[in-house]
Amino acid sequence: MSKFAIDPGHGDVHGSLGGDGGAVGYLIEQNCALNIATIVINKLKSLGHEAWNVRPSTAGSVTDSLQKRCNSGESADYFVSIHLNAGGGKGTEIFAVSDAGKKVAGNVLNEIVNLGFINRGVKDGRSLYVLRRSKPVAILIEICFVDTKSDVDLYNSIGIEKISNAIVKGLTGSEIKEQEGERNKMKNIVVYGEGADKRAAEYLADYLKCPMVSKENLSQDVLDFSEKIYIIGGNWKPNSKCILISGSDRYTTIKEVLKFIGK
Ligand SMILES: [Zn+2]
Repeated sequence: MSKFAIDPGHGDVHGSLGGDGGAVGYLIEQNCALNIATIVINKLKSLGHEAWNVRPSTAGSVTDSLQKRCNSGESADYFVSIHLNAGGGKGTEIFAVSDAGKKVAGNVLNEIVNLGFINRGVKDGRSLYVLRRSKPVAILIEICFVDTKSDVDLYNSIGIEKISNAIVKGLTGSEIKEQEGERNKMKNIVVYGEGADKRAAEYLADYLKCPMVSKENLSQDVLDFSEKIYIIGGNWKPNSKCILISGSDRYTTIKEVLKFIGK
């Protein structure tokens, strides 16, 4: 079993990551990257691997944002940065620096290209910060171009789950089982509203072995995918699949979570 640091590229919300904003075209790169990363993490865990999201919640500059990702990924075997490209090209390319990285990149690229994207090859990623500074075997995936209509149409028709499966298969060699006629849903996700409730959310996500996101980073796709959504703190309950666990302040919220877990 391996350890995977999964990096959903960018993620700047109102300056929270110092301007690390990503591309915007027919799709918003940072949202797509987070959706796919969240599903990839969930699937890697279901195969028995360790996987976690290294996107920071705050950063003072783009460099700080990138360095924080590298720091969070330091103990992993693999660092996998997920991006979408811009500039009007077509297809998938994956960057790597080391030979080991290029081998993994080739495997992931083959799987994504099998879905129908044009193969732009494995490219030298020496100029990319997260590849240069990461200790683990590192790759940076550019799935397709957000500003090329045919790529975006293909992306939408394939769907983020199949794209995520391709990434996981490329990384691990394991085929992802899909239930016949039904989308292989993400079962659980833990969502916290305020930074103060992050610790309580971590306890529950650890217990449930499921991904965790902040409310700001929760996208509609992930809401739709998940069977159960645990909202930690506050009183926000966007739909009937949501289970709200909340106290009157951060301490009683932690108590409520521990009670829920049975501790
Ligand atoms: Zn990017």
